[in-house]
Amino acid sequence: MAATTKQLIDWDHRYIWHPFTQMEDWLRSDPVIIERGEANYLIDTEGNRYLDGVSSLWCNVHGHRKPELDQALREQSEKVAHSTMLGLGNVPATHLAKRLIDLAPDSVNRVFYSDAGATAVEIALKVALQYWSLRGEEQRTRFVSLTEAYHGDTLGAVGVGYSDAFHRFYRPVLRPSRQIRPPHYYRWLQGQSAEEALQSSIAHAEDVLEACGGVTAAIIVEPLMQGAAGMWAQPPGFLPAIQELARHHGTLLICDEVATGFGRTGEMFAVDHEGIRPDMMCLGKGITGGYLPLAATLISERIFERFLAPYDKFQAFFHGHTYTGNQLAAAVAVANLELFESERIVSRVQSRTERLRDLLAQHVEPLEHVGDIRQRGVMVGIELVRDREQRAPYDPAERMGARVIEEARRHGVIIRPLGNVIILMPPLSISESELDQLVRVTAAAIDKETF
Ligand code: PMP
Repeated sequence: MAATTKQLIDWDHRYIWHPFTQMEDWLRSDPVIIERGEANYLIDTEGNRYLDGVSSLWCNVHGHRKPELDQALREQSEKVAHSTMLGLGNVPATHLAKRLIDLAPDSVNRVFYSDAGATAVEIALKVALQYWSLRGEEQRTRFVSLTEAYHGDTLGAVGVGYSDAFHRFYRPVLRPSRQIRPPHYYRWLQGQSAEEALQSSIAHAEDVLEACGGVTAAIIVEPLMQGAAGMWAQPPGFLPAIQELARHHGTLLICDEVATGFGRTGEMFAVDHEGIRPDMMCLGKGITGGYLPLAATLISERIFERFLAPYDKFQAFFHGHTYTGNQLAAAVAVANLELFESERIVSRVQSRTERLRDLLAQHVEPLEHVGDIRQRGVMVGIELVRDREQRAPYDPAERMGARVIEEARRHGVIIRPLGNVIILMPPLSISESELDQLVRVTAAAIDKETF
C-alpha cells in the first residue's frame, strides 16, 4: 500500500475524475491527499493538519476517529458487514428505524433506506407519484420546488433542483418542476425588507399552487436553509405558509433534511423549529455521523398504507439498492444517535451558534468585500462582492471563492466555496478555540484575496 505522495498524486491525476471539479484545473494542481483524521482535523500524506471546516462535505458530526463510532463499526464488522434487505430484516437497520421514528415529527412513521441524499430524494419523488396513481389521481405528476433548490445529482433530483449553469446538458430528458421564488432578499428580491421578501415569496407560492396545485404530486423544500444555493435562509413563517399551501391544495410536503438534519441548525431537524409535519423527510449526510454512506426516506403511514394490496396487483414499491440498510452503516448510525443523547449535541450546537455569530460579527462582517453573512446554527454562507453598495458580484473568471479557500488551506483550514459564497460548516464537535481558528483564518484569507 505504501506509496509516496508524488506517486499518489500521479495516479490521482491519471486515474481519477473528481466530483464537481473542472479537471483541467485539477490536473495542473498539486492536490492534498488525505490519509488520516483526528477529531476535527484531517491529516495529509505529508503530515500536514487541516481543520475540517466543512465537515467533509457537511456530514461529519462528532469529528473523525470518534471512539464510540469506531467501536460500533468494529463490533458490527465482527458480526456481518452486509446482507440484503430484499426479503430479509437485519438487526442494526431495525434498531435505527425505531430510533429515527422516535426522533422525527409524528407525521412520518416508516423508514425506507438507501445510500445517498440523492437516492433518498428519488425515493420520495417516486413514492409520491405512485401514491397519487394508486389513489386514482393520475393527474398529480408535477413537482413544485424552490428556485435554485438542490436535492442531489440523479436525474429525478435534478428535475426538482434545476440550475441552468450545471444542468443545461440534461435538459432534454428532465421534467423541471414549477419553481417558487425563495424569500431570499439579498440577491433575489433586492430592495425588499426581510418581511416584504417573505410576503412576496408566499404570494408567489400561492400563485404557483393556484395554477398547478391540482396536478402537483408534492412540494419539495430544503427547510430553513437552502444550502447549495449559497446558504439562503428562510425567515420564520415561510415553512408554515408552504405547509399550509400544501394542505390547502391537497398535495404532499417533502422536506429534504439531507443537509439540515441531525443538529446542524440548532434543533435535531430543521422542521422542529416551527413544528412542521412533513409527509416525507429525506435524511442523509449526518445520519452516520459522517462515517458511511447511508440515507433514509421517512414516510407517513397514510402514504404507506396506500401501497398495501394483494401480491398480484403489483402495487409494491419496486425500488431498492444493493446496499439498502447496510449493517455497518446502520450500526454506526445507531451509535451516532446515542451520542446525540449522551453528549447533548443539540444544546451544544445552540451555544456554538452564538459564539460563531459573535466571531463572524467581529472578524468577517467589517471586511469591505463581505456583502452578506447568512447563518443558521452552524451553517454559514459568507457572500463576497466586488462592490458592497451595489451588491456587485465578482466575475466567475476571477475565481474569488476558490482563491479564498486556497489561501485558507495554506493556513491549515479546509473550507469550500459555492461560487462567491464561502461556506463554513464545521463538525458539531468543534471546540470554541477551533471555531476561533476557523473564523480568523477565513477572515484573513478573504481580506488578503479581496484586497
Ligand atoms: N439534498 C440536499 C439538501 C443536499 O444538500 C444534498 C447534498 N449536498 C443532497 C440532497 C444530495 O446528497 P448526496 O450528495 O448524498 O447525494
